[in-house]
Amino acid sequence: MSYVDEVLEQVKAKNADQPEFLQAVTEVLNSLRPVVEQHEEQYRKLAILERITEPDRQIMFRVPWVDDNGQTQVNRGFRVQFNNAIGPYKGGLRLHPSVNLSIIKFLGFEQVFKNSLTTLPIGGGKGGSDFDPKGKSDNEVMRFCQSFMTELYKYIGADQDVPAGDIGTGAREIGFLFGQYKKIRDTYEGVLTGKGLTYGGSLARTEATGYGLVYLTEELLKCHGTDFNGKTVAVSGAGNVAIYAIQKAESLGAKVVTCSDSTGWIYDPEGIDVAVLKDVKEVKRARLTEYAAARPSAEYHEKANKDDHGVWNIKCDVALPCATQNELNLDDAKALVANGVYAVCEGANMPTTLEATEYLQKNGVLFVCGKASNAGGVATSALEMSQNSERLSWSFEEVDAKLKNIMVGIYHNIDDAAKEYGMEGNYVAGANIAGFKKVVEAMIAQGVC
Ligand code: NDP
Repeated sequence: MSYVDEVLEQVKAKNADQPEFLQAVTEVLNSLRPVVEQHEEQYRKLAILERITEPDRQIMFRVPWVDDNGQTQVNRGFRVQFNNAIGPYKGGLRLHPSVNLSIIKFLGFEQVFKNSLTTLPIGGGKGGSDFDPKGKSDNEVMRFCQSFMTELYKYIGADQDVPAGDIGTGAREIGFLFGQYKKIRDTYEGVLTGKGLTYGGSLARTEATGYGLVYLTEELLKCHGTDFNGKTVAVSGAGNVAIYAIQKAESLGAKVVTCSDSTGWIYDPEGIDVAVLKDVKEVKRARLTEYAAARPSAEYHEKANKDDHGVWNIKCDVALPCATQNELNLDDAKALVANGVYAVCEGANMPTTLEATEYLQKNGVLFVCGKASNAGGVATSALEMSQNSERLSWSFEEVDAKLKNIMVGIYHNIDDAAKEYGMEGNYVAGANIAGFKKVVEAMIAQGVC
């Protein structure tokens, strides 16, 4: 049995109850086969694949907090520190009722390769809680964040582990978390990224993941002789990543006709009005029904069931899934191909199932996985860390230019890696191989640890 298959079997046996983690490991290890085969003896001896699929540590803890009615609530907190071979652990905190160890491990595992692709010195980690900020008052969110940090602070630090935002963790939550860390540690350091601009945040961090996704897609299109101008684009999600992806794509001449949230989706044939969307989602924190109410050209479709991903039935040239994992399945991929989609680039983490990815690739669709195409967020977080260390703030234009440069570099890095291993155009393999090689080189140099 090959070394990859052997380790895949072991990982499956040890983590049988963690489907998302197994999905991510299966995708990555399968695409690493050509590299692993070249170094099989050395990697086996050093147990490289066993080590890279086992987190350095996983921390789980109780998060008690008191709601506005005086009732004590208990949530579960997580931080998975996956690999720090190339820098301090770095990765967001997800606050969503679906959060469990499998989801945090899959995200932490992917983060290792993504962070490596940014070319910046950051290792991989991820955390979060099954707490749902939706419908909670600001005071409830603050009490939760303070309780969460009262345990988490022991394991993080500017040179140790630097968490950031993710689903459910925006500027408000980062502010409460930072305040509590500062109070407990009595130290002012860049322990979190995504901070507000008045206390160490970076300009362009809010826009970075969505803008970065579009910068990488723009380079992909350019290298295939086309561009965004006049293209119809389908986007899912209506959160941080989706909003700024829509804004940047439209500024490049595309017409973005869809967006979605967990209860429904919008088809707006005249193009999504970003100002209205931002008001509904960032200011009012309301449902997309409010968007439809404000835009006569928009149709609102209620989600029929959890597998209803209606946005992918809309005819488009480019699809940018920006909501959550496994939101684009085989049926959705078939609908996109039948409608002539040209490129699919992931804004979310693992939004496309394994079967859907294979189908898109087999049918000639240009497909870039999230660990490459959504790396702009973490890359800009690393730029925030640099600014904090320097005690300086860079201008929006300076950060945005560095972000664009990084995303263009990532595209060429994954394209070159795919070509080097005889898989031209397979950007999933290219991303995994390029990310993996750097981390493994560092792991080998540092000995068995
Ligand atoms: P937000 O919480 O800002 O937005 C998430 C959006 O997706 C919301 O519109 C949400 O709708 C929707 N959504 C969530 N779950 C589902 C679901 N099951 N079905 C349909 N829609 C859903 O998160 P972000 O925009 O920050 O993150 C989106 C994705 O991008 C995640 O996969 C995240 O890990 C990834 N990512 C984010 C980065 C960042 O910098 N923010 C960086 C790299 C990756 P609703 O409001 O109704 O819940």
